[in-house]
Amino acid sequence: MENCIFCKIVAGEIPSAKLYEDGEIVIFKDIAPLARIHLLCVPKEHFAYLSELDDDRAALLGRTLKKIADLAPSLGLAEGYRLVVNQGENAGQSVKHLHIHILGGETLPWEK
Ligand code: 5GP
Ligand code: ZN
Repeated sequence: MENCIFCKIVAGEIPSAKLYEDGEIVIFKDIAPLARIHLLCVPKEHFAYLSELDDDRAALLGRTLKKIADLAPSLGLAEGYRLVVNQGENAGQSVKHLHIHILGGETLPWEK
């Protein structure tokens, strides 16, 4: 997808601090961390919203959640973490390529 910053990171055209990569996803550090550990998990396939999930993408998302759970200890997240998917304007989604925020490394506040 042209002009998508996460597609460019996936392709290696924009540098990122990648911590994990396989055929389906990459995990890299968020450039503006909101917690001591703030990672982004991005499917390599470009699509913007959860509303675009078909059966294959839903299965990909399931595998991705399991992958995050399996990797968590090696990412410094053994004490727990929070996953966030911002969808659309009200949630402030700024990058229109579906991504999962992974937040942790400290006790996280839970407030609106
Ligand atoms: P959203 O607001 O769409 O849920 O999250 C987008 C996230 O991408 C933000 O937390 C922002 O800091 C991060 N981000 C935007 N551009 C870049 C970039 O070029 N590199 C990295 N590593 N993160 C980025
Ligand atoms: Zn993209």
